[in-house]
Formats: sequence, structure tokens, C-alpha cells
Amino acid sequence: MIVKRSMKLRLHFVVDPMGWFCISTVFFIWLYNSVFIPQLVLLPHFQEGHIPGALVVSYYLASLLCVTALFRASTADPGRLPQNPHIPHSERDQWELCNKCNLMRPKRSHHCSRCGHCVRRMDHHCPWINNCVGEDNHWLFLQLCFYTQVLSLFTLGLDFCQYYYFQPLPRADEEGFTSRHELALLRISTFMGLLMFGGMSNLFYTQITGILADTTTIEKMSHFLDEINQPRKPWQQTFAEVFGTRWKILWFLPFRRRQPLRGHSFPSHV
Ligand SMILES: [Zn+2]
Ligand SMILES: [Zn+2]
Repeated sequence: MIVKRSMKLRLHFVVDPMGWFCISTVFFIWLYNSVFIPQLVLLPHFQEGHIPGALVVSYYLASLLCVTALFRASTADPGRLPQNPHIPHSERDQWELCNKCNLMRPKRSHHCSRCGHCVRRMDHHCPWINNCVGEDNHWLFLQLCFYTQVLSLFTLGLDFCQYYYFQPLPRADEEGFTSRHELALLRISTFMGLLMFGGMSNLFYTQITGILADTTTIEKMSHFLDEINQPRKPWQQTFAEVFGTRWKILWFLPFRRRQPLRGHSFPSHV
């Protein structure tokens, strides 16, 4: 146990077959669009000079950011509480006992029955990433929603151009799998793109309005709303707290460590 705690790379892994199924589906959709779309549309038309190199690089970059956010959101510790937490004197009345795991936790924490422990500032349990969305990985979840929208919009645009705009190209291997099934592969990609973009835009909008109001999904659905929702903070503040930095450019980068925001003028609820 102690060895595990001192290890630098700690992967959080939730044992839940339903969650494994969901995250495998998401990963499959990502893999499908990152393999077939470049093979069918992006690379052949780049070689013919119909598509600029910057577009090819952007596609792969969106794909990389998407899968990094997925991997990190699903394997990050969402905000598990230690066995013997240090409770500052000034915050004593802000802590409460969880009656399920018998541990002290700060207000706004919730017990997740799927994960089997309490999570600080828990937003919700997401089977699609097979993890809770809490204080420490909420920023990665938002990045995942954002980059999934970017990638699916990109894919839909390329599918559209391939259908209606680009001239058909002579294929080097007429008998190859992708050449023979081009239309079917494009239709599946379009279907998945519409599904992902529709679902993600809806979720992203709900998430952004939640952060602007400084409320979690769980709080929105419960009666905690009134006691927590004041005073209203500026949007830069609520986003900086979620992302752990005031540098807006870093809000878009999944390749970094999140540090809790220190020294802000508004005290946090926790
Ligand atoms: Zn608990
Ligand atoms: Zn959970």
C-alpha cells in the first residue's frame, strides 16, 4: 500500500464491467475515425494537393488531444479522500461524516456507489469514461467533451466533402478493404459523427452552464443549490478553480498536472 502511494504514476481504475463496455465503445469510435478517415479522405487528397498539410496536422492534433483527454480523465484520481485527512481548524464546521464509508469529508463531496468511495466536489459518475468526475479530473472531462466535438465536426466536414465535393480518386489498391467498402465506411463515420457531436454539444452546454453557476450536476438535481449558489463569482474565477490555473491557454492542454488554485480572493466552498 505504502509503495503504491509513493509511486509517481498512479492510475485510478474502476472495476465496473458496464463502464468497461462504455469506455471501449468511445475508444472504438475514436480509433475508427483516426484510422479510416485519414486512409479514405485525408491522406489521398493531401497527396493530390486538394487538402493543405496544415489540415492533416490539425486533424491528427485534434485526434491526439481527444485520446489524451480520454485516457487521463478515465485514469485520473477524481478526488478521493485520504483515510485520515488533515482538517484545518478554520474548516472544522465545513466537514461532515460520510455514513457509507465512515470517513470525514469536506462539504460538496459525495459518495459514489459505483466507485465505492467519497469524491471531493463530485460532479457525476460517468460510465463513458468509467470514472467519477470530481474536483481533480473535472477539467480533463471538459477537455474531452470539447475535443470530441472538434474531432467529430472535423470528421463530419471531411465525410461531407468526400460525398459531395471531392472528385473520386483512382485508388492504388482497388481490391483493398477500404477501397471496396468506402461508401459503407463513410456512412458509419457520418452516423457516429452526428451521434457524438449531438450528444457532446448537449453535455458540454450543460457542463459550461453548471460551471458558470458554480454548481455540480449532483447539486443541480438536489436541494443543496440554494445554500451554495452565492455569492456569484466571475466566470474567469469559476473556470480557473476548475482548471487549477488562471492561464487560459492551459485550460486547453491535457498534458499537465492540475494544482488547486491558491490565493484567490473568493474562498472556495471546500
Ligand atoms: Zn463515502
Ligand atoms: Zn464514481
